[in-house]
Amino acid sequence: MRIASVTCTPLAAPAPRPVEFSIGTFPTFYAVVVRVTTDDGLSGVGECIARRTPEVVATIVDRLLAPLVTGRDPWDVEGLWDEMLGLLRRWGHSRGFVVEAMSGIDIALWDLLARAAGKPLYKFLGGAGRDRVRCYISKVYFDEIPRMAEEARAQVARGYSQVKVQIGWPAARGGDRADVRTVRAIREAVGPDIDLMLDANGAYDAGTAVRVGRQLEELDIVWLEEPVPSDDLDGYAHIRRSVRIPLAAGEVEFGVFGFRDLIARGCIDVLQPEVARIGGITPARRLWALAHAHNLAYAPHTGFSGGIAHLASLHLAAAAPNFSTYEYMGTRYVENPLREIFTEPFPVPDAGAIALPQGPGLGLELDPDAVRRYAVR
Ligand SMILES: [Mg+2]
Repeated sequence: MRIASVTCTPLAAPAPRPVEFSIGTFPTFYAVVVRVTTDDGLSGVGECIARRTPEVVATIVDRLLAPLVTGRDPWDVEGLWDEMLGLLRRWGHSRGFVVEAMSGIDIALWDLLARAAGKPLYKFLGGAGRDRVRCYISKVYFDEIPRMAEEARAQVARGYSQVKVQIGWPAARGGDRADVRTVRAIREAVGPDIDLMLDANGAYDAGTAVRVGRQLEELDIVWLEEPVPSDDLDGYAHIRRSVRIPLAAGEVEFGVFGFRDLIARGCIDVLQPEVARIGGITPARRLWALAHAHNLAYAPHTGFSGGIAHLASLHLAAAAPNFSTYEYMGTRYVENPLREIFTEPFPVPDAGAIALPQGPGLGLELDPDAVRRYAVR
């Protein structure tokens, strides 16, 4: 079996209503769909994350990576990953758009191989005895504080026991004091037995994060996510030593080496790989060994990615050692048209858990009409 073709389709869909959070307003969802087909007619699909200009990763797939993997044996997926990285690593491109482009090809290869084996991807990766995964509801975004509290309470009424809340209010709207008021109002609304996670998307500096974190300690917070920008490793280490709230990060890291530094420098409690950015299934799975060895929680990120990434992360969640919880985007603030690009609806949680689709590979089939509807070339 040889790889015969790699095709790439950038998608875009306006958000039904723009999402407001700490790093600005999010008006448009993007994703890049990759399809890998073999000479015997098998195919698999993957996704590259695209936050801006999806044409950039599409060009990297078309011009740089597709020529490398075409003609090769898809069963060599791990070696192909290393070769793709090796193309430009010594030229300074071991992070960023190149690794995001690699993600789409790598996910497509794993989907293809699991289909060839006739197994759901999570079993093909080495099952963990889970066919349902616990999930948290993400995210209660900025709004009037009483409305945020009401949304959190409504999600608990739907069966969720874990709720993630946006913090990092801009200074003009109350800044970190508004964050403290928000979290207190939400804890009051949901009661003491609900897990609350907070996500700042890097809005603070370390000093502010410590000041806010210490005020929130008494509210029994499960994790504080990205309190400072991802490259401020000293900041993470300082916050982690100073505040009794576990720290979560990793959605913007590339490869296992991105997480290596976070772990080695004592920055992190919860690992949040984004499969469409880290480089695909291969490095997300290699990260399991680090999670296991350091006894750290593994909680895959999904966020504003498209449906293939959400689905691939669901399979990683089902198979991962040290799995903690899966990010299900389901509040009334986030309606992502690019998650619904399959011939059947994306799996919906029941009582705070999601059942894995049981078909081979990723388990759902792309709907060609949906792909055409959102294609931007
Ligand atoms: Mg986040």
